[in-house]
Amino acid sequence: RQEIYRQLRDEPTVTKDGVDVKLQLNAGLLVDLPSMEDAGADGVGLFRTELQFMVASAFPRMQEQHSLYSKVLDAAGDKPVTFRSLDIGGDKVLPYLRLAQEENPAMGWRAIRFGLDRPGLLRTQIRAMLHAGAGRSLRIMFPMVADVAEFQQARDYVERELKHLRQHGHDTPKELKLGVMLEVPALLYQLEEIYKEVDFVSVGSNDLFQFFYAVDRGNTLVAERFEALSPSFLRALRKIVVVGDKMDTPVTLCGELGGQPLAAMALLAIGYRNLSMSPASIGPVKAMLRSLDLSALSEELLKQLEAGKGSEDIREFLSNFASEN
Ligand code: PEP
Ligand code: MG
Repeated sequence: RQEIYRQLRDEPTVTKDGVDVKLQLNAGLLVDLPSMEDAGADGVGLFRTELQFMVASAFPRMQEQHSLYSKVLDAAGDKPVTFRSLDIGGDKVLPYLRLAQEENPAMGWRAIRFGLDRPGLLRTQIRAMLHAGAGRSLRIMFPMVADVAEFQQARDYVERELKHLRQHGHDTPKELKLGVMLEVPALLYQLEEIYKEVDFVSVGSNDLFQFFYAVDRGNTLVAERFEALSPSFLRALRKIVVVGDKMDTPVTLCGELGGQPLAAMALLAIGYRNLSMSPASIGPVKAMLRSLDLSALSEELLKQLEAGKGSEDIREFLSNFASEN
C-alpha cells in the first residue's frame, strides 16, 4: 500500500469526474515539513504553533518564534502555510505556565481567549509571524473564535503590529490573509457576519464535534456515542461551506475527520474542496478521491440527508458507495 501511495504522489489530486481538490498537511514542528513533499501535499493547512511552546522550558522569545516560522516558510517554498496562533489551555498545557485549576478546561481560558487577555504574548507571536513573512505570502488564523468581535480584536493587533513594523522600516508580507478556525458552534449562527470579515475559514472538526454534541473528545466513555457522519453534524458542516461559497470566502477543514477516507468522501460530497490532515492520511484520501465519481455521490448523499435518514443509514450508504467504486 505504501508503494501505491508513493506512486500517487505526483498524480493530480482530482476526482474521477474531474473535480480538483486540495489536500494539505497538518504540522506543528519543523521536522513535519519534509512530509509535505513526501506525501505530495498542497501546503500546510494547519501549523499548530503551540507545539514549539509545549516542548520548550520557558516561553519562546520573539526571535525563536521568528526563526521557526521563517524556516517553515522556507521549507514550504511556493506552497501556502497557514499558521495558527497559540492554542493552549484545555488539553494543551505549558509546564512553565501555571494556570488556575479549571472545572471545564476545554471550555475555559484557552486559545484566542487567552491570547486576547494576554495581548503581550499574542502581539509578540504576531510580530514574529509578520517578520517571518516579510516579502512573502502569509496566512494567520485564530483558534476557538466564538464571536466576530474576537476576530476583529485579533485583527486590530495584527494591524497595530504591521504599523509598528513599517514605522521602523521593516519589510512586511507582500500578501497577508487572516482567518478563523470554526470550532465553536456559536459561529454557525454568525456565518454571514464572520465571512464578511475574514479572508478564509478553517473548520476544526475535532472541537466543533466536541462542542456540537457536548461530548468530551478524549473521554472513551462517551466519545463513541455520537457519530460525525450523523445527519445533524453533516448538515452543520454543509451549511458552513454553502454559505462560504455564496459569500466567496474560502472554507477548508483541518480536523481529523478529513483524514478518514469515508468521512472525507462525505465532506467532498457536501461541498468541501480543501482538506488538511496528518501526513499518513494523504495517501489513503488521495487514492479514494481519484476513484470517486463525486457528482453521483453528492447527488445521492444530499438526497439521503433531505430524506431524514439516520446515522447508520448514512454510514452504510457511504461504505456501499465506496466498495462499488
Ligand atoms: C480541531 O479542533 O479540529 C483542530 C484542528 O484543532 P486541534 O485538534 O488542535 O484542537
Ligand atoms: Mg481545535
